[in-house]
Amino acid sequence: MREVYADNNATTRVAPEVKEAMLPFFEDLYGNPSSMHHFGEHVEKHLIYAREQVASLLNADPGEIVFTSCGTESDNAAIHGTLASYPEKRHIVTTKVEHNAVLHYCRHLQKNGYRVTELSVDRSGRLNLEELQSSLSDDTVMVSIMYANNETGVVFPIEQIGQMVKSRGIVFHTDAVQAGGKITLDVSTLPVDLLSLSGHKFHAPKGVGVLYLRKGTRFSPLLIGGHQEQGRRAGTENVPYIVGIGKACNLAQSYMEEEQIRIRALRDRLEKELLNRIPKARVNGDRENRLPNTLNISFESVEGESILLLLSKEGIGASSGSACTSGSLEPSHVLRAMGVPFNAIHGSVRFSLSRYNTEEDISYIIEKLPPIIDRLREMSPFWSATS
Ligand code: PLP
Repeated sequence: MREVYADNNATTRVAPEVKEAMLPFFEDLYGNPSSMHHFGEHVEKHLIYAREQVASLLNADPGEIVFTSCGTESDNAAIHGTLASYPEKRHIVTTKVEHNAVLHYCRHLQKNGYRVTELSVDRSGRLNLEELQSSLSDDTVMVSIMYANNETGVVFPIEQIGQMVKSRGIVFHTDAVQAGGKITLDVSTLPVDLLSLSGHKFHAPKGVGVLYLRKGTRFSPLLIGGHQEQGRRAGTENVPYIVGIGKACNLAQSYMEEEQIRIRALRDRLEKELLNRIPKARVNGDRENRLPNTLNISFESVEGESILLLLSKEGIGASSGSACTSGSLEPSHVLRAMGVPFNAIHGSVRFSLSRYNTEEDISYIIEKLPPIIDRLREMSPFWSATS
């Protein structure tokens, strides 16, 4: 049976070049980069190089790159690090559609005396910038707004938002975990103070992330201990994984331009064919401002989970929401915030593509999905083709 992996917003396969680059660090290159002897010095050189590779992808200074254990840690550290630096301010602004790494952290802070504004989105998942503007006050310490949404792929106007936030002297963090390695992120022009990335979303392994911290930004570390990462994140560096994320950044930078075009064309073909072949289907999210690899599509009167199971039996991996919310039948908080009708939320499927998807993969999904939807609708008491 053919295997098609179309769940790349959940995680990606490790690129063979990344694995290759990492292997020596499980063998001969095992020294601690902080050690004074040559075992450590050898390894430290590779740590410096990986930092340069990450900085190059973001057009940042290597000194602005802090390695972390994942996207969640980068998000938590960004928020914690800012709040702890401005203890006199108690208001945070974020959105209703953030990943739980930001949303649940903010709700946790709310229980501890912070005031949190969660901005709403419209039917297409777009923010209302006037609402953002009027939410800002002298008590606002930071704004944390994601670059691109993991469920719908909707890309927020981070440049415009950053200008608005920075003009009020407020700290701005963006969770760019889904944008990293997929679209250009240039911090030399992007008005952000902090930005999060996660390696496993762009062909590095799970368990390594990056926090970009603009020079001069006030920051108080989440992990306190050793002097690693210039005192911004204690703990002996996870050298093999850091080398891996460095290489993944380097590959993303080399391939980005051609991949964006190729992957967008694959996604657009999938979208067009599914809309043509399946009645009562709708795309969720702003189709103009979207990651090139993501399609979130709803099929009325069918359960997303049933679709996923039948797709999986055909060898196709997709998702019915973000990886962290699937596993529960809770409807997606993102689609709910967008006001997607209940019937359509439950029948939503997310396809997310990567460098390793091909035209044949798309043809295979197009062949397999329509009969699955027909079958499920025949069994559904709620289905009526004419209603
Ligand atoms: N932020 C976004 C937008 C995500 O999509 C994810 C993971 O799905 C995270 C943060 C968390 O990243 P990690 O899995 O590396 O902790």
